[in-house]
Amino acid sequence: MADGRGVGEVWLVGAGPGDPGLLTVRGRELLSTADVVVVDRLATAVLLDAAPPDAEIIHVGKSPTARSWGQEEINTVLVDRARAGARVVRLKGGDPYVLGRGGEEAAACAEAGVPCGVVPGVTSALAVPALAGIPVTHRDVAQEIAIVSGHLPPGHPESTVDWTGLAESRATIVILMGVARLMAIADTLLDGGRAEDTPVAVIERGATPAQRILRTTLDALAVDAIAAGVRSPAVIVVGEVAALDRAAASMEARPLAGVRVLVARTRPRAGLLARRLRALGADAVETVVARPASGVGVG
Ligand code: SAH
Repeated sequence: MADGRGVGEVWLVGAGPGDPGLLTVRGRELLSTADVVVVDRLATAVLLDAAPPDAEIIHVGKSPTARSWGQEEINTVLVDRARAGARVVRLKGGDPYVLGRGGEEAAACAEAGVPCGVVPGVTSALAVPALAGIPVTHRDVAQEIAIVSGHLPPGHPESTVDWTGLAESRATIVILMGVARLMAIADTLLDGGRAEDTPVAVIERGATPAQRILRTTLDALAVDAIAAGVRSPAVIVVGEVAALDRAAASMEARPLAGVRVLVARTRPRAGLLARRLRALGADAVETVVARPASGVGVG
């Protein structure tokens, strides 16, 4: 921590789509030596698995119980902690530079003269469809993928997405942050020429034990999504590949799917038991119930 080393550093680390097993080895190494971790809501499961117990944890994402931070405030806390000498890990969902504003955080560090590095992550845009059995490219079907933000509705003056071009193309369209705009997006793609029966998959909370998949078609998307009560975070895949399901046949047995297990850890170390339970499909929630006094080699 602030131990006279001078200025610290900021690492923008991609946490992957939610499953702690999909954090990179490099990301895990950095996380395990962090003084401060600044974390988004989508990355919290990864954090519990890999951060040191004595690190300062700053939650900056929206949650039912806490306010969400503005981008300026996040930039400021990264810079301030690093200037105080800390190694700061900014843990971001998916990949830091895919629709995640990581570029702005890197720029803020550069402006402040704070060293900043990036560790790419497994983006939800590709991993969430894959885990749902959907290859986003497929020979003879789709040789092109467009990853787009649905945050701004089609036609919005600040949107840089060419929805009409996408409608005319045969690209697989992977839409992030699109749940609130589903109806406008579907209408625009239909108006632009995509066929009504174009397959669509909506994958909610992919790579987590709560994953849900809705398969539908472009003309039925809005109605089906409302009926299913689809909520953010979800990845929407539009295109012929969305009808494929390559995972089903090779799916490992997940006998604990749908079961939530509280794992009481007596030692603050990476939870092997929790990892095993997750591999069997469980939602393993870890809590440290007792800690050895510092310097005493018990456990
Ligand atoms: N940088 C991130 C994306 C941030 S934008 C990445 O590379 O994955 C946030 C959007 O990502 C969400 O609105 C949702 O569309 C998508 N997303 C992230 N994690 C997800 C998950 N586990 N399941 C479904 N969608 C997810």
